[in-house]
Amino acid sequence: MEKKATTHHMPLEAEIIAIGTELLLGHTTNTDATIIARELATLGINLHFVQTVGDNPSRLKTALETALTRSQIIITTGGLGPTDDDLSKNVVAAVTGQKLIPDAETLTKLEQIHGHIKKVEEIQKRQAFFPENSIIFKNPVGTAPGCAVPYGQNQWICMLPGPPHELTNMLENSLVPFLKEKFDLGTLYTKKLRVFGIGEAHIAETLGSLLDVQNPTIATYAGNGETMVRVTAKANNPTLASEMIAPIETEIVKRLGSFLYGVDVECLEELVVAELRKKKLHLALAESCTGGLVAKRITDQPGASEIFGFGFVTYANEAKMELLDVPLETLEKYGAVSQQTATFMAKGALKAAHADIGLAITGIAGPDGGTATKPVGLVYLALADKKETFLRCLKPHKYYQTRQANRLRAANHALDMLRRYLFNLPISELWPV
Ligand code: ATP
Ligand code: MG
Repeated sequence: MEKKATTHHMPLEAEIIAIGTELLLGHTTNTDATIIARELATLGINLHFVQTVGDNPSRLKTALETALTRSQIIITTGGLGPTDDDLSKNVVAAVTGQKLIPDAETLTKLEQIHGHIKKVEEIQKRQAFFPENSIIFKNPVGTAPGCAVPYGQNQWICMLPGPPHELTNMLENSLVPFLKEKFDLGTLYTKKLRVFGIGEAHIAETLGSLLDVQNPTIATYAGNGETMVRVTAKANNPTLASEMIAPIETEIVKRLGSFLYGVDVECLEELVVAELRKKKLHLALAESCTGGLVAKRITDQPGASEIFGFGFVTYANEAKMELLDVPLETLEKYGAVSQQTATFMAKGALKAAHADIGLAITGIAGPDGGTATKPVGLVYLALADKKETFLRCLKPHKYYQTRQANRLRAANHALDMLRRYLFNLPISELWPV
């Protein structure tokens, strides 16, 4: 048996060879390659080539010979079954200079499956023949087993069946454990850093050359109006991984300042609800254009009842007046979408709910209702405690064109104001543009 390689004579790289004329004809989509590719990425094994070749022995031979010059792990799919075109194992045996020999256990299984009808035919028996030095991968959901065929110095041709459900099963139960045993893979450890209030492009600019660093690697993912910065380290144990991540994390935190809102939290609402609970503070909401979206997100969090009792959805001016005591003069003079109205809404909610913090959102979500002075996308937010009121104004932004996007943006900013209030950070601060 081969020893576990600690140093490789070639870098640990994998290659897939998908076998089947149906793939080249476009009759079948190469989903097997995708399934394997994802698994390799999770294992931290680089995949550098995917070849597709028809059921043609000489072209398969060429594909294998090429792969053997450059890849330590070669994974083939298809061509293991009993049909005429299934010649993969013959070619692999020839290329690696091995004989095909029968596997007793597989023969017995074939007898059990087919033997009661008639004698197992030669063509069926092909499934039980493997290159002589193979390690056999069982196929609990089909008949044709797979195998790992050794070549050179810890170099392997791993053969998996074509049908995706058989392949998936064998990948999980045989190939992955096999690769972990044969290669020093290490494991990937990740940390998620959540950022709000600064765009992905600005983040990339701020992180600069940090984004080029290898192990740990840093990558940014934008979505839902915010950005996640993911730091991934490949290491043999969690302690080592966190030691590798720590200095990078410190540097990212330093560079992004108060725009980085959390490490290993899922979202703004998770963070603010936890902090409100910790500080035993009660929140009240007064929402206009978000129509309850902030209340929804707050109450998505378990334990929200400890800190949240009232959310007003005051869409009409009458509701703003009746429920939140917004004066008619204010609405007439400044309009429903104004910092004055937002302030009254926040204070009104605070008072009506006997809360510690009142948070209000009023804006124009669109697509209609905008004017030259009050365009679609304009939003006023106010956060009031018993002493002070803090304001934020969102101007229309090219990334937020739809009603949905404007509402999401407004809700995000409301939660961000609350976060900044709770952590004593400058509340109205926005990224300088
Ligand atoms: P069988 O025992 O069924 O003959 P096999 O290992 O010999 O399996 P093939 O004969 O090459 O595999 O393919 C069987 C079926 O598996 C194909 O008809 C196709 O539907 C599916 N298949 C093969 N290769 C792929 C692939 N790369 N991606 C997705 N599906 C595939
Ligand atoms: Mg077949």
